[in-house]
Amino acid sequence: MNEQQINDIRNDFPILSEKIYNKDLIYFDNGATTQKPRSVVEKIEQGYYHTNANIHRGVHFLSQKATEAHEEARSIVANFLGTDKKEEIIFTRGTTEAINLIAFSYGEAYCSEGDEIVVSVMEHHSNIVPWQMLCERKKMTLRVIPANEAGELDMTAYQNMLNERTKLVSVMHVSNVLGTINPVADIIKLAHAQNTPVLIDGAQAVPHIAVNVKELDADFYVFSGHKIYAPTGIGVLYGKENWLNAIPPYQGGGEMISTVSFKKTTYNELPFKFEAGTPDYIGSTALAEALKYVLNIGIDKIADYEHQLMMYATEELNKIQGMRIIGNAQNKSSVISFLVNDIHPYDIGMLLDKLGIAVRTGHHCAQPLIDSLGIPGTIRVSFAFYNTKAEIDVFVTALKKVVTMLS
Ligand code: PMP
Repeated sequence: MNEQQINDIRNDFPILSEKIYNKDLIYFDNGATTQKPRSVVEKIEQGYYHTNANIHRGVHFLSQKATEAHEEARSIVANFLGTDKKEEIIFTRGTTEAINLIAFSYGEAYCSEGDEIVVSVMEHHSNIVPWQMLCERKKMTLRVIPANEAGELDMTAYQNMLNERTKLVSVMHVSNVLGTINPVADIIKLAHAQNTPVLIDGAQAVPHIAVNVKELDADFYVFSGHKIYAPTGIGVLYGKENWLNAIPPYQGGGEMISTVSFKKTTYNELPFKFEAGTPDYIGSTALAEALKYVLNIGIDKIADYEHQLMMYATEELNKIQGMRIIGNAQNKSSVISFLVNDIHPYDIGMLLDKLGIAVRTGHHCAQPLIDSLGIPGTIRVSFAFYNTKAEIDVFVTALKKVVTMLS
C-alpha cells in the first residue's frame, strides 16, 4: 500500500485525528479493539434511522427489510470465512460467548467423567475458563500444550497428548501476546486423525490474515466483530453443520424454538437454534459492512503491509538497550510484546500515554502464559492497516525518552 492509500484509509477513521493531551493520537492497541471506519458507523445510523424493526417475526415492511439485512449479513460472513452454508454462521456477542456456547453445548452432549480437553499455554482466558468450568462440571481434565522459548507450540508434546479420551482441542489461531501464528491446519489434521473435533479462536487472526474454514477443515471457528473494525457486541461462531445439528441449544427463548407447549418444546433449525432472543441485527449488518471494508482493501494486502510494520518496528525496537521482545516465532502477526530492562510495563505504558501513544500493558488476559514466562506482564503494541512507519518512529523516539526517564 502506498502513502496516498494509507492517507485515504486514515481519513475513513475520524478518531485517528483526535488529539490526546494535545498530541496526535497514535493508536497501537488494535489487539484489544480496532477503530471503526465511517462506513460502519453510518451503517449503524442508517439501520436505526431507516430500517429498525424486530426481525424474523413481523409481517410489516420494516421488519422484512431488517430481516433481509440481517440474513444478508450472515451470507457475507459465510462468504468471508469460506463456507457456502450460511446456516453454519451463528451470531454471538463475540469470541467469548461463542467459546462458552461450544463448551456448554458440545460439553453436554459429548463429554463425561475422565475425558480430556486440550488447549495451549498461550490461550486467552476466554479459551481457558469455559473449559475449566466444563471440566469441573463433568470431572474432566484440561491438558495444556506447552510452547518453546520463541513462543511456538510444541507439536510433539501436542501429538503425544492426543488420546481416545481427548474430546476436543481448542487453540488460538494467532496469539494476542506473542503474535505467533499457530500451525492450526496441522493441529486440526492431527486431532482429526483420531476423530477429535477442533475449535479455533480466530479473534486475532481474521483481522490480519486470510482464513478459510473449509480449507482448514476447522469444526468450529470463532471471532469478535470489534477486533475487525465492527462494533462491540457482535461476533461469530462458525460450526460445521453436522456438529451444530448434533449438539443441544445453548440458551432457550424466542427465535430458537419451532413449537412451544408445556408438554414438549421443539427447536428451530440452524442457525436460529443457537440464537435465542432478539439478535443484534444492527450489529450484524455493521459487521458485514466492516468485512466489506476489509475485503475492499484486500486481506493479503493488509497482511503484507502489517507484516512490514511489524518487521520495521521489531528492528527499531531491537536498537534500544535492554530491549527484550517476548515472542519471536518464525510465523508472526502484527503484535509485539516487550520489556525493557526491569522497568515495570505499567510505568512505560503510563508515560507513553501522556505522549498520546496508546499501548497495552499487563497480562493481556493470558495470565498462565505470562506466569510460565516468569515475567510481570508486557508492553504490547499491535498494529492495524491504518498505522504507519512514521507513527512507529514517533513511538520509538518516545519510548527511548521514557526508558531514559525510568532507568
Ligand atoms: N481470544 C483472543 C485471542 C483475544 O485476543 C480476545 C480479546 N482480547 C478474546 C479471545 C476475547 O474476545 P472478546 O472479549 O471480544 O470476546
